[in-house]
Amino acid sequence: MDKDHYDVLVIGAGVLGIFAAYHALARGLRVALMEKDRQPQGASVRNFGQIVPSGLSQQWRKHGINTLEIFDDLAKTGHFSIYKHGSTYISNRKGETQLLYERHELDHHDGYNSEMLSARQVLDLYPCLRSEYTMAGLRYEREYSVSPYAFMNELLAYMQEQLGLQFFPGCLCNDIQPGPLRKLKASSTRGQMWLADRIVICCGVNYQLLFPEHYDGNEIKVCKLQMLQTARQTKYSIRGNLLTGRTIRRYECFEECPSFRSATVACEADKASALGIHILLKQMPTGEVILGDAHQYVDYDGDEAFDFRIDQQINDLIVRLSKEIIYLDTWRIANTWTGFYSQTALPEGILDFQNETGVYFVNAIGGKGMSAGPGYMKSFITKLFA
Ligand SMILES: Cc1cc2nc3c(=O)[nH]c(=O)nc-3n(C[C@H](O)[C@H](O)[C@H](O)COP(=O)(O)OP(=O)(O)OC[C@H]3O[C@@H](n4cnc5c(N)ncnc54)[C@H](O)[C@@H]3O)c2cc1C
Repeated sequence: MDKDHYDVLVIGAGVLGIFAAYHALARGLRVALMEKDRQPQGASVRNFGQIVPSGLSQQWRKHGINTLEIFDDLAKTGHFSIYKHGSTYISNRKGETQLLYERHELDHHDGYNSEMLSARQVLDLYPCLRSEYTMAGLRYEREYSVSPYAFMNELLAYMQEQLGLQFFPGCLCNDIQPGPLRKLKASSTRGQMWLADRIVICCGVNYQLLFPEHYDGNEIKVCKLQMLQTARQTKYSIRGNLLTGRTIRRYECFEECPSFRSATVACEADKASALGIHILLKQMPTGEVILGDAHQYVDYDGDEAFDFRIDQQINDLIVRLSKEIIYLDTWRIANTWTGFYSQTALPEGILDFQNETGVYFVNAIGGKGMSAGPGYMKSFITKLFA
């Protein structure tokens, strides 16, 4: 076989592209992955790394549960910075507590294991929490937390060394045409060429670089998030993912609860909610605590643009709200960054289509890419080779 001919060529080494390649390799296929940067720099290495199917809508939970199974397999290898430390949602108001109870009932119905915790139980589990904030908790033991930057790079190395992935970093794909022998031909801005039977584009927010016209009418917005990381904590340790009251009022899974509307309507529309701030926390294995996040949305094809700077007012607000929730040894902020993801408002919650040349596109998974992307890409590859 021609060494430059692949069964599948994937463009974009974010979580969607990497897991498209991973599942194709698992079927014994010859797979290449192109990435425009020397190392991935997109949403998949900048995120929280909370693998929380608990937060997903009914429609997406099955992909989240498949994602957990994929992480269980990856964890067995011992190669990856992934931790099965669970997730806990903490309520601060009666309405939020009511939503936790209702969600717990629904979980029981769906066969997804969760446990209601009293304020005492939550505080025993998380001594760093403020007792005046904590009303109750909903705990998901099965969920993962990952260090996204380390994990993505470890997985890429593993796929090259153990599974035979051909990875082409620093290669920006700028064209795809029909090639000889009914193959597709992809080229890079440096003039390299690849031939493949199937090409899958997972290019995140860079969707204007290749066939931008295909995204028209798909109601895409790009979301800018701000994240903060404290200096290393010495005294406290926070186990797993912590999600707090504002998250309970924001995440899709709670919209399925009977009292969702009344519980959220009862809350004031303050500055933080206008900035899309809901407080999430997790601790890195090295001790630093990640705090976030704020959401600002822009229609990339419209007239708006993001301010490229970090908004200090947003960071100050995130810290202030976090201080109402937890105690830390140090609130010194050692690092802060932005991340961007693409999102579609279409009911499918993702763009997944093929163009007239036979190229596949998967994009705009929104804020659930780490929690549901690996599982979604498994079903995508299964369908592709059915
Ligand atoms: C701050 C932040 C926090 C988040 N927290 C969570 C969380 O805790 N849990 C969760 O489930 N989700 C979370 N998300 C969402 C999640 O990170 C995204 O849904 C997911 O990473 C999107 O993956 P992707 O593969 O579509 O895009 P990306 O990760 O952006 O990858 C796209 C890749 O394609 C490459 N590329 C683009 N065009 C080309 C081209 N023409 N040629 C070659 N390469 C190209 C880019 O360089 C990039 O590496 C968060 C997102 C952000 C920004």
